[in-house]
Amino acid sequence: MRFSFAEGLRCVTCGTTYGFDELMYTCPGCGPIAGTLDVLYDKGGLAASFGPEILQRRTDPTIWRYHEILPIHDAAAVVPIPVGMTPLYRLECDIGASPGMRLFVKDDTRHPSGSAKDRATAVGLARAREVGAAAVAAASTGNAASSLATFAARAALPCYVFAPASAPAAKLIQIRAHGAILFAVDGTYDQAFDLCTEACRRMGIYNRSTAINPLLGEGKKTISLEIWEQLGFRAPETILVPVGDGCIVGGVYKGFRDLLDLGLIERVPKIVGVQAAGSAAIATAWQRQSDRCTPVDVRTVADSISVSMPRDQVKALRAIRASGGCFITVSDEAILDAMAALASRAGIFVEPAAAAPLAGLREACLTGGFGQDEEVVLLHTGHGLKDIDSARRAASWNEPLTVSPEWDEVARVLAERLPKGSK
Ligand SMILES: *Cc1c(COP(=O)(O)O)cnc(C)c1O
Ligand SMILES: [Zn+2]
Repeated sequence: MRFSFAEGLRCVTCGTTYGFDELMYTCPGCGPIAGTLDVLYDKGGLAASFGPEILQRRTDPTIWRYHEILPIHDAAAVVPIPVGMTPLYRLECDIGASPGMRLFVKDDTRHPSGSAKDRATAVGLARAREVGAAAVAAASTGNAASSLATFAARAALPCYVFAPASAPAAKLIQIRAHGAILFAVDGTYDQAFDLCTEACRRMGIYNRSTAINPLLGEGKKTISLEIWEQLGFRAPETILVPVGDGCIVGGVYKGFRDLLDLGLIERVPKIVGVQAAGSAAIATAWQRQSDRCTPVDVRTVADSISVSMPRDQVKALRAIRASGGCFITVSDEAILDAMAALASRAGIFVEPAAAAPLAGLREACLTGGFGQDEEVVLLHTGHGLKDIDSARRAASWNEPLTVSPEWDEVARVLAERLPKGSK
């Protein structure tokens, strides 16, 4: 029994294929960004060893239930922190979608470090252990690093992190709590990214930075494998995904594409990428029908998708085009409104980037972009406590009632200010 059927890598731009162990990062001919790599699998082997019947008998409630179609060959390399199989459930309350829509949430806030980054880290760190890395590193807007720090702590591997000093405080504290060496970079995420690449090259550290590492998207693709299994082994019609560097959206496509290639679904769902209007490099390239992004000046409340030059842009553009989807851009105001609606009406507390999919759906419903009765999945990628300042803004409509510890005052304040109702 093989643990994995991963057997090769292929450059997304020039199509050159490489043996699985031949390259660690990007295609030498095409370099970073253009030369990101897809992981290839032995389709014949998979067809015989992977599918609904086998999965139905499996009890492992983590992403490793899909180990045949993940790029780790040594089961012992997996770090024993459970990741994946997050809930997928119907959302029937009114949060501003079209009334006839069949709406689902995939709640990826429920991960060990509080974001979808744990899916990629689980795979990346297993690979670091397979290749015998002495240390790991990542550039991050905050979540990738807090995720890496979590897993590195459990694996007892030294961990170096490069994040903008301006990242939300909670994310930086998570990194420190787990014992990682945090370089709080006085600069942008893009500058932190280049610094991390340099550090890994000079110090021989295993690099878990987005897009440069081809295995991270394979971790992210488990979102699609899970949705497929949770819907009773079928694909939804549409899925909305927040997009920064583009790794998640590229991974979501890869998951459905692998299932299509194995004949396990009939078509890939329409994938809709949602970017903040103040950080919309990939959406802009898509609108211009261009294959490459030009760097943008970024300004958005959604720090996790605040990227000037997206590193996984090639896979992100392919995901949207090949699936027949689209990009939607949303304002910070729409993001904060969506956060408030999710928290106060659906009981789902997310950080700004993770509210972007709902903001995008509301926008599309207004402009008639989607079918009224479509089956739509919203992917929520990060927990609300990750960014307290933004959470405070989204909750600003609901000020606390400050009282002294006496019933009379409670009664007086209540009479004066009955609840305004939810937003
Ligand atoms: C990283 C992240 C994203 C964006 O993912 P990309 O792969 O950079 O597009 C969205 N939401 C949250 C919460 C994230 O941490
Ligand atoms: Zn290439």
